[in-house]
Amino acid sequence: MIPGGVNSPVRSFRSVGGTPYFVARAQGPHVWDVEGRRYIDYVQSYGPGILGHAHPAVTEAVGAAAADGTSYGAPTEREVLLAEVLCDRVPGMAWTRLTSSGTEAAMAAVRLARGATGRNKIIKFAGCYHGHSDGLLAAGGSGVANQGLADSAGVTPGAVADTVVAPYNQIPAVDDEVAAVVVEPVAANMGVVAPVPGFLEGLRAACDRVGALLMFDEVITGFRLSPGGATEWFGVVPDLWCFGKVVGGGLPIGVFGGRDELKGRLAPLGGVYQAGTLSGNPLATAAGLATLEQLTPDAYRTLARTAARLADGMAAAATEAGAVCTVPRVGPLLGVFFCAEAPADFDQAKAAAENGVYPRVFHSLLESGVAFAPGPYEALFPSLAHTDEHIDTTVEAFAAALERNPAAD
Ligand SMILES: *Cc1c(COP(=O)(O)O)cnc(C)c1O
Repeated sequence: MIPGGVNSPVRSFRSVGGTPYFVARAQGPHVWDVEGRRYIDYVQSYGPGILGHAHPAVTEAVGAAAADGTSYGAPTEREVLLAEVLCDRVPGMAWTRLTSSGTEAAMAAVRLARGATGRNKIIKFAGCYHGHSDGLLAAGGSGVANQGLADSAGVTPGAVADTVVAPYNQIPAVDDEVAAVVVEPVAANMGVVAPVPGFLEGLRAACDRVGALLMFDEVITGFRLSPGGATEWFGVVPDLWCFGKVVGGGLPIGVFGGRDELKGRLAPLGGVYQAGTLSGNPLATAAGLATLEQLTPDAYRTLARTAARLADGMAAAATEAGAVCTVPRVGPLLGVFFCAEAPADFDQAKAAAENGVYPRVFHSLLESGVAFAPGPYEALFPSLAHTDEHIDTTVEAFAAALERNPAAD
């Protein structure tokens, strides 16, 4: 009835083998499957669960909002409040528009870039994922890579004719036919790959030289790395942003936004069309506002400390076991690769991801009650609900998994 049994391919166990656990409920750091088994969850819906599951502030806000109606098709106060919070936190961002997914946000931001510059070409980086719209799927990382696909069938050559794919962490040639350079400021869909020093600054300069727009896809980094996301973390300000995941508190949301001078380009003010029946949904804005309210500067310090404890613990366990393993971390964001050096691009990430170690470690962890994502191209998402005790239990399970599964040389 459901192709592959899943409503998003990354959830299938295709790249690790076996059958997915069906989730019955979740609370804080835990999910329970329908058989009553409990897992310490590092999937956290692939990013939205920064507070952990079912945080009372979020569930209460959603419940109260639902009682007032679930969608109106007219402007609401919470949309304005959310736009204010987002623009306050992200340096340089002057306006936002809400969508129902990150895919839509990235797709709309690209259209805006093309409309504003009158140019067609976009440059993206191999291994960066920007949702599943036709023009952005090329060399997409994440679920696309997980399924062993380079790209998707059904995307016409015409749809990607204006998409140039470049290697991550190298400054591409940007000429005056380029509307936008689109980048994950920390790549988190080919495992976690940090930008090398100068990469983001170099993209900013290359765009400025020819009047191309720089677009940060902060669907994962946004409101996770810091209050102002990667923009604040790295101090490089793009022209366009897209967000999702954390900003919806677990409800369907996407956001794109931009510098002030781009605001007038979007309908109804300008000629670039974009729309959505459920955009700015009352439940999603309630969940988003409730989530952001919890995300104080202190919360980011706590989250980074938790991520560091996990990363350091896993790295120490690997050394102890004599396993070849690296745990790249940028503040609160971390991943794991079973190779010696942290990959810097998609080719290196693929070589590490496909060496056969991840599926064995994944299943050992799952048997011990620890759920990592069922594929080697995903980040780990510890939440504010993960205590030191949960982290230490996870590190012990990881050490045991390495003992049982001697890693590749
Ligand atoms: C998840 C993700 C998207 C797509 O968001 P959806 O809500 O799944 O459509 C886009 N960009 C990045 C960086 C993502 O991680």
